[in-house]
Amino acid sequence: MSREVIAAAIRGATDFVEEAEAALNQALQAKGEDGKVEFPGTAFYLPMTYALMGLEVKKLGELKAVVAHCRELLPEVPAEELWLPYLGDGLDAGIATLLALETTCALRYMNGDPIEEGCTGFISDTILRELGIQLVDGRMPGFAAILGPAPSNEIAVHTVRELQKRSILTFLLCNRDGKSMKDQLIQEGVELGWDTYIVPVGRDTQSAIYVLNWAMRGALTFGGHKKGDWQKCLKYTKDRIFAFGITFGPIPDDWYAVGAAAIDMGFPVISDDESTPEVRPTGVTTYEALVRRTDHDQIVPTCIEVRGVKVKVEEIDIPVSYSPAFEGERVRREDMHVQFGGKYSKAVEVLEAAELDEINDGEITVRGGDFDRAEEGGAMDLAIRVQVTGRKMKSDFEGILERQMHRYCNEAMGFMHTGQRDQIWCRLSKATFAAGFRLKHIGTILHAKLHDEYGGIVDKVAVTVTTEPEEVAALITRVRPIYNARDERVAGMTDESVDTFYSCTLCQSFAPNHVCIITPERLGLCGAYNWLDGQAAYEINPTGCNQPVAKGRCVNEAVGEWEGVNQFVRERSNGAVERFSAYSLMENPMTSCGCFECILAIVPEANGVMIVNREYPGDTPIGMPFSTLAGSVGGGAQTPGFLGVGRLYLASRKFISAEGGLPRLVWMPKELKEYMRDRLEERSAAMNLEGFVDRIADESIATTSEELLEHLAKVDHPALKMDPLF
Ligand code: SF4
Repeated sequence: MSREVIAAAIRGATDFVEEAEAALNQALQAKGEDGKVEFPGTAFYLPMTYALMGLEVKKLGELKAVVAHCRELLPEVPAEELWLPYLGDGLDAGIATLLALETTCALRYMNGDPIEEGCTGFISDTILRELGIQLVDGRMPGFAAILGPAPSNEIAVHTVRELQKRSILTFLLCNRDGKSMKDQLIQEGVELGWDTYIVPVGRDTQSAIYVLNWAMRGALTFGGHKKGDWQKCLKYTKDRIFAFGITFGPIPDDWYAVGAAAIDMGFPVISDDESTPEVRPTGVTTYEALVRRTDHDQIVPTCIEVRGVKVKVEEIDIPVSYSPAFEGERVRREDMHVQFGGKYSKAVEVLEAAELDEINDGEITVRGGDFDRAEEGGAMDLAIRVQVTGRKMKSDFEGILERQMHRYCNEAMGFMHTGQRDQIWCRLSKATFAAGFRLKHIGTILHAKLHDEYGGIVDKVAVTVTTEPEEVAALITRVRPIYNARDERVAGMTDESVDTFYSCTLCQSFAPNHVCIITPERLGLCGAYNWLDGQAAYEINPTGCNQPVAKGRCVNEAVGEWEGVNQFVRERSNGAVERFSAYSLMENPMTSCGCFECILAIVPEANGVMIVNREYPGDTPIGMPFSTLAGSVGGGAQTPGFLGVGRLYLASRKFISAEGGLPRLVWMPKELKEYMRDRLEERSAAMNLEGFVDRIADESIATTSEELLEHLAKVDHPALKMDPLF
């Protein structure tokens, strides 16, 4: 800690100890050693003394040991020229402050000194039970103690509103030249009290102990720690009670002493004054201990970041209902106001990790024409870019969080979302548009839900939504290499090298019996989740949709069937799927939900298979376009001969290996072929199939089975010579 900070904290603590000593001597003279001392409404005597020293103080005489201990703890003020590590001294001064303030305030109660009107003074155990449980189980993300008045009434109101918005309880303390934030808020007509989460505690600095010993009772009550278990109690407040202090203006010595006390309990302090030295080393507090933030708009976001408060947005402020009940809802063409992506326009979504200071939490930027500009029944381009920060956020988590956008958007009534990455297809219903749903509400949903479900790793979320065609196109170009890089991470891993696969049941809202089994060599059929994503998702949320699946005993190596996987799929498909083969199109293939990037289908007359991607609008050699095929493949049923797949599965060593693999592929849309060309060429070279990719037919060669057979014969396609599929 800086010498300046420590010296000020020790000076402040010394004053508090002297004040406690003087008050105790006076009380002893007036009432004697047996004078009764207590706080109202607590079973914990003097709670801080009880927790830190293990003393059950009931009588004045018992306070002598407390004050003597404060004296022992008080360090020397560091000399100007002596530069030593001061952290321990600062922390001792903080503990001395806690004990001295509690003594002083307990004596005030004994003397019957009035609590200032409109302030709580000591906070009872009843309130601890009512609110404290919310504090430790996360419903109330944390509490703030504000010291002093803000530089203006406007800043005072802005600060408490920002805290209220995040359901953070605010305590008002201290004054400067007689003025406190309580006065400012009353002048501005802000309602104060427990109901509004803005609680004036006391006008002086000593009242800070009421907040701190309230927090300490959390460790005794909810943490179950015993009197005198000071290390466990302090660790509990640091780990479980997300509190922090905010100071306005230059910090006087007595505030520094209270700040050191707060830091002892793991609560950092954020100052708006440019002269405040920062204390950035971590350890006593989870992150930095004393941080300067002069921009008043950024004070509360900084507090949240520095304390690691996990914000919950209780209500999603959009003009239509929001519930998982709407997740599987479809918007039919005749009910549609506008659509995005699919084969109708360009659309993309991406989630990227940002630097901590790069974004402001809750910032939603909208560019381009809103839904009002859309021609009814028409299509618009759309790009949704989410940026998140968090000290525990890793780039490995981007794909997992991004995939949740599918579910989050779907849960809004009248907004349909399918697909992923630059393959999304969304529809907005006429009724939802009429209710006032606009582009910014997509951001509102994503901000709230990411905080709600991924609060453990996400601290800030900002969303940009644009319908500007050039911007949408530019984003697609920029993010494709990002998607590729995510996919490449599993390159080189084999199914044989692991004994655990991962499941994904995220799409059970659409297809209640569908289970994706994700292996290193077979990604989820939406193309958005690979084995590493499954592993990372499980790390983030061990009870979520991605569970480890132990392979167990191998039943049939050729088709990729294992006892452990069968058992898992049976349970998670509600008994609908008895057996599962990872590498076969014909024998117990994986079920398909509705999110597949492509559909693989048998072409019996060619003794092979064709693949068609969602974006391809035309006919295929089996006489059905993608949309017709999707209707019969999806829904979570096993359909031998038909399979929803992620496009990268085509280039996998395990691509329908039970049926002979890649040489079976006889037809695919040209665009998909070009997109996959490098990977397919690499894979076909590994199988000694030189020139194979150009022997696969596409729509420029064949759209009927007759044309296809003619082409296959002409190029001597290997499928014609393979074992019969039936
Ligand atoms: S398609 Fe499969 S991997 Fe993708 S989100 Fe749905 S269940 Fe998960």
